[in-house]
Amino acid sequence: MNVATILKLKGAEVASVEPGATLETAVRLLSEKRIGAVMVLDEDRKIQGIVSERDIVRALATHGPACLPMTVMSVMTSTVKTCRSSDTIDQVMAQMTAGRFRHVPVVDDGRLTGIVSIGDVVKLRIAETELEVSAIRDYIAAH
Ligand code: AMP
Repeated sequence: MNVATILKLKGAEVASVEPGATLETAVRLLSEKRIGAVMVLDEDRKIQGIVSERDIVRALATHGPACLPMTVMSVMTSTVKTCRSSDTIDQVMAQMTAGRFRHVPVVDDGRLTGIVSIGDVVKLRIAETELEVSAIRDYIAAH
């Protein structure tokens, strides 16, 4: 099972905003879609950055509610680590652990094709483990 398996299950939709969008817009999107991060894309859908709830909490702690009209560009992380759909779940888990982030956009041949969250990864990992356990149980019962 790899990143492509996750995208097949959850789809290729990526919630995104433009660099000049306000934090208020980003907050609304996070809430509506029940997600933890949005991609910041330019008009050519090229990745400019990522804004997660962590960045917004940090902005709130620094500026208070006055941060809401600020642009996402001013709080986003602009060096974004990405993965490919052919990457394994273990590779993405290792990437998330090493970088201490919970979202990884998927880029294939320079094109954004989806995003995986730690929730997606854990869900698939549990399904994989359950399959293995059931296969082992069947094997033991048959021998
Ligand atoms: P998260 O755990 O995804 O809420 O993000 C924690 C911090 O890492 C925030 O400052 C994000 O902007 C940043 N971040 C999230 N995903 C990535 C990524 N794929 N590459 C680089 N930074 C990221």
